[in-house]
Amino acid sequence: MGAKGKGYDLGIKGEDGWRLPAGVVLDTDDQRKQYLAPARENRRHILCYCQDPPIAMSVALRRETGRYYLTPARRASKGGNFTPPKHRTDCRLYHGDRGPSAREGETLPGVEVGGDDTVRVYLAAALGDPEAQPERPPARTDTRREAAARRTRERIGFPYLLRMWWTRAGLTAWSPDPERSPWVDWYEALSAEARKIKVTKKYRLADVLYLPQPFSEERKEAIEAEYRDFVSAAMVQGADGEAVRPRLLAGVVKTIEDGEGGAKRMHLWQKKFTLVLPAHMVESYQEQAKAGQTIEAPQQEGERIATAWVFVLVLARPRASRGKPGHYWWKASEIAAITIHSRTAIPVESSYELQVAEALVTAGRAFVKPFPGHAGELEVDGMTPDFVCVDRTPPVYLEVYGRMGDPEYARHTEEKRRRYRRQGIIPWEWDPLTEQRMPDLPE
Ligand SMILES: [Zn+2]
Repeated sequence: MGAKGKGYDLGIKGEDGWRLPAGVVLDTDDQRKQYLAPARENRRHILCYCQDPPIAMSVALRRETGRYYLTPARRASKGGNFTPPKHRTDCRLYHGDRGPSAREGETLPGVEVGGDDTVRVYLAAALGDPEAQPERPPARTDTRREAAARRTRERIGFPYLLRMWWTRAGLTAWSPDPERSPWVDWYEALSAEARKIKVTKKYRLADVLYLPQPFSEERKEAIEAEYRDFVSAAMVQGADGEAVRPRLLAGVVKTIEDGEGGAKRMHLWQKKFTLVLPAHMVESYQEQAKAGQTIEAPQQEGERIATAWVFVLVLARPRASRGKPGHYWWKASEIAAITIHSRTAIPVESSYELQVAEALVTAGRAFVKPFPGHAGELEVDGMTPDFVCVDRTPPVYLEVYGRMGDPEYARHTEEKRRRYRRQGIIPWEWDPLTEQRMPDLPE
């Protein structure tokens, strides 16, 4: 579990100061909030007394979990002239502050990291028999801390699963590679990673997923057979006739058109079958996919423009097509969508980010575009940078500020800038409202 190593004292100096064993401060989310929230509020450092002089730590707040945690007050710059002081090897902060219930850097409740490069996720929607309730995290516990962690453990939704899958498959990172081709490489990376994510006690993501393989005329028969097997695995004979199991389908959206009663009919690239989004899901899909377009959207003739595609992960059940024995369509019950740069699969969240991604690829840069909350080591003071060029030492951070006219967004931007300053980082910035043209990329 998270608390490895010895609990040296933590403390904060001043009138309202305190000095307590690390366990008292860090063992539960409530204790963290009690001791760390005021320090964060007042921008004060926490001292770890494992060394003399003590090591200064900043307090950060992970927004999606509401958990407070400690990060080095200053980070090392690769090849730079600053190396932060190291915690004693037996200090619980030596490997970083992983939170009370998470292991190996995964701090989200609902995700457990296994020792063999696998992760186990607890999904909000059931994947087993139709009657089955959403699965509960394990009931057996060994310690009081584990029991507390279990009570607070959430189940994750499909948007999180999709982002985790994409990140672990390496598709948020790009380095120049003339051999790399769209879809063939993405398919391999995503398929390999789907075998490492356990979505139920029994199944890995790959066992319950249809991800269309790259189409080729020679493989046509095999592709059809694979799809037929997938459909029949979703059918179960019940006492009162045929019942179906929900399954996952994923791919790049090729077309989307109006269906009956406000529903939408969706087709994916590479393999033709129909997914139906009921009317009540359409708004959620459109909100998630607003920065992208379908693959058949018209392109400007002769002009090489960057394109954003939409990739979806859909939970759906097969339905027999009326009057067409052996044919099925899929009725969706959950959908997660991301927008990706069409040449590289790098995720983007706006047309401005698409321009930045395109410019970085054209300039032959190696960079990472993390999803918010999935930046791992690239986090800066608890926040997710928009882009990080990892081909420079120290790395170069890029920020695209949209919507600066919106006071709420402007405040968020100011907070980001403050945190960069606090870490001694000057990011490359683009505010499209004041500068229509993207500034030159950083050297
Ligand atoms: Zn320490």
